[in-house]
Amino acid sequence: MFHSVNSKVNFPQVEENILNFWRNNNVFERSVESRRGGPRFVLYEGPPTANGSPGIHHVLSRVFKDIIPRYKAMKGYYTPRIAGWDTHGLPVELEVERELGFSSKAEIEEYGVDRFNTRCRESVFGYLKEWEAMTERIAFWVDLKHPYITMDNKYIETVWWAIKQMWDKGLVYQGYRVTPHCPRCGTSLSSHEVALGYQDNVEDPSVYIKFKVVPNTLVAVGRLLNIDINKPAYFLAWTTTPWTLPGNTALAVAADADYAVVEIDNEYLILADALRGSVGLEDYKVVKGLKGRDLVGIGYEPLYNPHKYSVGREHFPLGTEAGVHKTRSEPQGGLTYPVIDTDFVSMEEGTGIVHVAPAYGEVDFEAGMYHELDFVHPVDLQGNIIGSYPFSGKFVKDADPLIIDDLKSRGLLYRSERIRHTYPFCWRCEAPLLYYAKQTWYIKTTAVKESLIAGNNEINWYPEHIKYGRFGDWLENNVDWAFSRERYWGTPLNIWCCESCGRYECVGSVKDLEEKAGFAGLKEPSDLHRPFVDELTFDCPKCGAKMRRVPEVIDCWFDSGAMPVAQWHYPFENNTLLEDGRFPADYICEAVDQTRGWFYSLHAISTLLFNRPCFNNVICLGHILDAKGEKMSKTKGNVVEPWAIIDKYGADALRWYCFTASPPGNVRRFSEKSVAEVTRRFLLTLWNVYSFFVTYANIDRFTPDAEATLSFHSELDKWIISELNQLIIDVDTALDGYNPTEAGRKIENFVNDLSNWYVRRSRRRFWKSENDADKLSAYTTLYECLVTLSKLLAPFTPFLAEELYQNLVCSAFPEAPNSVHLADFPVVDVTKIDKRLSADTLLVMKISSLGRAARSQAGIKVRQPLAKLFVKTASRVQNNALKRLESQILEEVNVQALDIVDDPKVVLERLKGGRLADGGEIIVVLDTNIPPELAAEGLAREIVHRLQIMRRSAGFDIADYITTYYQGEAYMRKVMVDFADYIRQETLSRQLIEEVPGEGVFTESYKLGGYDILLAVKRLG
Ligand SMILES: [Zn+2]
Ligand SMILES: [Zn+2]
Repeated sequence: MFHSVNSKVNFPQVEENILNFWRNNNVFERSVESRRGGPRFVLYEGPPTANGSPGIHHVLSRVFKDIIPRYKAMKGYYTPRIAGWDTHGLPVELEVERELGFSSKAEIEEYGVDRFNTRCRESVFGYLKEWEAMTERIAFWVDLKHPYITMDNKYIETVWWAIKQMWDKGLVYQGYRVTPHCPRCGTSLSSHEVALGYQDNVEDPSVYIKFKVVPNTLVAVGRLLNIDINKPAYFLAWTTTPWTLPGNTALAVAADADYAVVEIDNEYLILADALRGSVGLEDYKVVKGLKGRDLVGIGYEPLYNPHKYSVGREHFPLGTEAGVHKTRSEPQGGLTYPVIDTDFVSMEEGTGIVHVAPAYGEVDFEAGMYHELDFVHPVDLQGNIIGSYPFSGKFVKDADPLIIDDLKSRGLLYRSERIRHTYPFCWRCEAPLLYYAKQTWYIKTTAVKESLIAGNNEINWYPEHIKYGRFGDWLENNVDWAFSRERYWGTPLNIWCCESCGRYECVGSVKDLEEKAGFAGLKEPSDLHRPFVDELTFDCPKCGAKMRRVPEVIDCWFDSGAMPVAQWHYPFENNTLLEDGRFPADYICEAVDQTRGWFYSLHAISTLLFNRPCFNNVICLGHILDAKGEKMSKTKGNVVEPWAIIDKYGADALRWYCFTASPPGNVRRFSEKSVAEVTRRFLLTLWNVYSFFVTYANIDRFTPDAEATLSFHSELDKWIISELNQLIIDVDTALDGYNPTEAGRKIENFVNDLSNWYVRRSRRRFWKSENDADKLSAYTTLYECLVTLSKLLAPFTPFLAEELYQNLVCSAFPEAPNSVHLADFPVVDVTKIDKRLSADTLLVMKISSLGRAARSQAGIKVRQPLAKLFVKTASRVQNNALKRLESQILEEVNVQALDIVDDPKVVLERLKGGRLADGGEIIVVLDTNIPPELAAEGLAREIVHRLQIMRRSAGFDIADYITTYYQGEAYMRKVMVDFADYIRQETLSRQLIEEVPGEGVFTESYKLGGYDILLAVKRLG
């Protein structure tokens, strides 16, 4: 006997029981250990930071991470899965700063770096319990007891080793360059971090500024401009960042482009001829046309002479090592800046004259180097203007309007507007990023660009377009990795510098450090974080002075990207890693934003260290939005709480939704409604079939027999077993190809057919009283379907699969593995696949559904028998098939005959009363005339239907025998007598008695087909 199954199911409750079973029986550990010796299958877990609650997007990626290793384990692979936690970096620091109410680095320094880092260390596991609970509840099977943690000393030591490898290859350097800088966090960001934080539709000023030409330089270029030397002339330039104007030291033009000198009121304006229109100067007189190259060498007055505003004025070449700058010693008054020609001047927007501030833009910086321009940088690292400008002390964005006002009052503003454009913000704190020239440590990834691209060719991306699209483009446009951070809580950069001679040295391990001459400062127990690591010093081998660590920590993306080696403390331990199958990963999965985050850092580090990729297959998930298609955010209040969904629908429902609602790479709109929908459409459909099977199997005391070979007594059995075997192939192929969505949808279609075709059409075989071979065949078939489904579903809906398996398999076969997750994945029996039968049944389904559509148009219930269905098929083959399948269609459509016709329209005209349903290749016409004898039969069926409802309402068991009483008009009495055998059989009535029953008998009155009838049912004791 199976334990009884209620058709009303509480999935969350069922799941809680199964969680206990897994826990008590160590099923996860056994599912791994029992496959030891099999080929390895490696998942790399992209480590989350546990300093906040897991959200719905974490659930999405975790169930996708889960499904593939589960499937592989059932296929015989050894698949240990290790959890990981990302613990360093700005996200953590920001959280602690918020707690402490800090808004600047000065406050951290004052508070004490050791105290600050202690709080960071505590905070990273603030939500660990919740993460673990969520991970277990959604059945993401991963070893949470032995996770890798990026802040562990051993982990840090491997990261040091990795950096040292790159250092030794000459791939680590310090550059004085323009880098994206977060003024709030006080640190540089890497280009992949910048890519995470672009915002569209950002409003900024759009201003056209006049730069006054110095008349004597005009004379120097001769009478070229053809203008009155007594009238002032100006170059017109455009910018969206007025705060960079005090740093302006040149104007750039395109040598070959056409420029115009325009006369306006009492002055001249110079700009690109092609852009006069867009600037609003098309109607003014052009006094001279000339080429950009003719303007080169003309001088103009600085908008803000740095000497006047107490700001340093340096010039290129700037020192590249340790930032030693040269200072201009030229005259302070009468300072002029030059017009230069460059290749970055756009003729699409602006004026064709570009304002160049070498401190604030990459191309500006390069132009500065090439043309040996002045370098003026009046902004500090917090983004505030220094010096003695009217707007000094302001944050740059707040200074913008003041600068505009100032220029306006001086008559140097031509036009001022606002524009909306895309601008980068800090991905963590959302401060606007500023581009600054400063010193940063770089990894020279551009040196291995070809290897990065070649390695990517070996990776399978799902969806495929990411490979040469988003990810491939990213690699093609590779820039060096700015990987140092001027922060506190992170892996300290393992580079030491001599106080005296400036010599640098990269240290690759703790032991290396300890063996240095003059090594000092180590405290036990050792902690490799700041500030303790900053105390570690040794003697400079060159000059004998003290070597001190540089102040920077490293990008936390480097930490997580180093996990393939760092989680194993390679090469200090586990040094066979690269040969024993633990590297590379077979599979990783994260959301699409990681193409520039973790996917990239993994790939870059692996390529730099080993010149090969570290993952073979990757599912790249689309973003998850709210039901309206908007990004979920706390401020909008549209964040979906995963616990609420799981407590209401269960984890399987959420998992099934994640796998099947849309392909993994698509953007998805999440709503509770869609989870309710998959529960109803799939989980409950399957549950009802399961409950139906168990209920009848228990009535008939069916016991599965492992030895029994199926001998089919029905085409239906043969058909569903054929479909089942085809399903095994389909699911296996799809999962093997990292496509859970395709696999899940196939399962869903199968369950639909199983419920709406196989079980529905077999119902009578389970109901009938005799226990014959046909009934046994039906039980055996349905049993096989459910057991196989439990195994196919195990990677998708591990709870429901376990429930089915425990009840159907473990109860009958004590020797079977005691969890579905210890079982093998189903193996197809191709001899059971019958393509013709499959095609035939599909044809029956199509015609039946068209027949029912014609009925519903005519408003005639399926219970009412009709005379004839006319069918036009697509081919002779189908016509022949129809002859074999006729009886099934007659039953399904409830008609007495079927005719094959060529022209259904002619039939429709001939019939007085008919309905046509057009299915494209197949068209049916239904004769809707109801002769009296069919009307009577229809009534008999209606009576049976009512009696069955009454049996249920009266609370009778499905197998209870009853007596039926009736009373009604003469016509109804005649129907009861004429169809007595049929009615008795269908309703398990021993007798049909024409009388009014006594007290306590379940009674109902109906009006059927216009006639009154009273019906009553009584259970036989
Ligand atoms: Zn920031
Ligand atoms: Zn030295």
